[in-house]
Order: sequence, then structure tokens, then C-alpha cells
Amino acid sequence: MERKVGKIVTITGPMFSGKTSRLIELLERHMRAGRDIALFKPNIDSRYSDNEVTSHKGIKMNAIKSPIGKDSIKFIKSRINGINIIGFDEIQFWKESSHIDDFIDDLAFSGNIVYCSALNRDHFGKPFLMTKKIMSISDEIYSLTAVCSKCGEDATFTQRIKNGKPDFGNLIEIGGKGLYEPRCRNCYVKPTRIIHL
Ligand SMILES: [Zn+2]
Repeated sequence: MERKVGKIVTITGPMFSGKTSRLIELLERHMRAGRDIALFKPNIDSRYSDNEVTSHKGIKMNAIKSPIGKDSIKFIKSRINGINIIGFDEIQFWKESSHIDDFIDDLAFSGNIVYCSALNRDHFGKPFLMTKKIMSISDEIYSLTAVCSKCGEDATFTQRIKNGKPDFGNLIEIGGKGLYEPRCRNCYVKPTRIIHL
């Protein structure tokens, strides 16, 4: 019997770079080909809708809210049930304790195709741990850029803004335009002190 070749495809970049739109596009190709897909999103993200993933452009796709800790893999296994095209939106929010990276690697070794959207850096300019792990096991990586909100150059950073100024608060704040801005390397303001997350 022919063995299907699995793969891991990661779409990375800052906020507003179109990661979720690209993720939806890639999954839609399989749907048009008549294949079932399963799309998961972290259960911390409550913006827009509970059972959908929505891009900043307003494109939508049904999605299942998943736990992001130790109970994550068991939950996902119970939902994929023979589906072998699997998407994860905002994979950076999954905790290290979930071992989602090992699970995704196993999925690909078993002939599944896995798509992940992954925010590259946090607003301190630091890489997200799960993004690093997923990128290093990926077969294909799309590296997207946004448009710098200051100068219009390609943006690879995400700046958090409060009262019109760069903000380096510790809490994760989920939000869209207004709270976060894409910035190029020249316009991104780095934190001035070392902050331990
Ligand atoms: Zn700029």
C-alpha cells in the first residue's frame, strides 16, 4: 500500500501580516479537493467568535477551541478522528507542557498534513518558544511581513501601544488594531530593560 507523505507547514510573521488568511487559504484548497479538515485555535483567544477563526481581513473558517496545556493532545485526538488535514491557528499560545510540537511531529510522520500559523516575536521582541519549536520541525515555512505603521517598510515586529506609546506590560492582551502595530526593524522600539517573562 502506498504510504502518504505527511508534512508540517508553518506560516509565521508579526501581527497583521496575513497569517490567518494564508492558513485559511491553504486549508480551503483541501476542502475544494473534497478532503475533510480540522482547524484548532487556542481557548484563550475570544476575539470575534467562539467557533470560528477570523482573519483581520474578516475571512472566516469554523474552528474548534482547544485547551493549550497538558490536556491538549487528548482533546485534539478525540476531535480529529480520521481527518488528516489539520490546522492550528496561533500555535505560539500552546504551552510547552502540552508537548504539542511532539504531537504535530508524530502526526506528520503518520502521513498527516499539518498547518500552523505562528506569531514570530512577542511585543518585547522575543521569540515565542512554541513558534521556535514548530518552525524547527517544519517542512515548509512561509515567512510573511506586514506594513510598518510608521514608515511603510516591510514589518517583522509587533509593537504594543498604550496611550500612544510603546508598552511593555507583562500581561498577554488579546487585541487587534489600536493595541498592537506592525513595525519594521528601524521603527520598532525595544524595551529598555531586561524583562523576565
Ligand atoms: Zn518602519
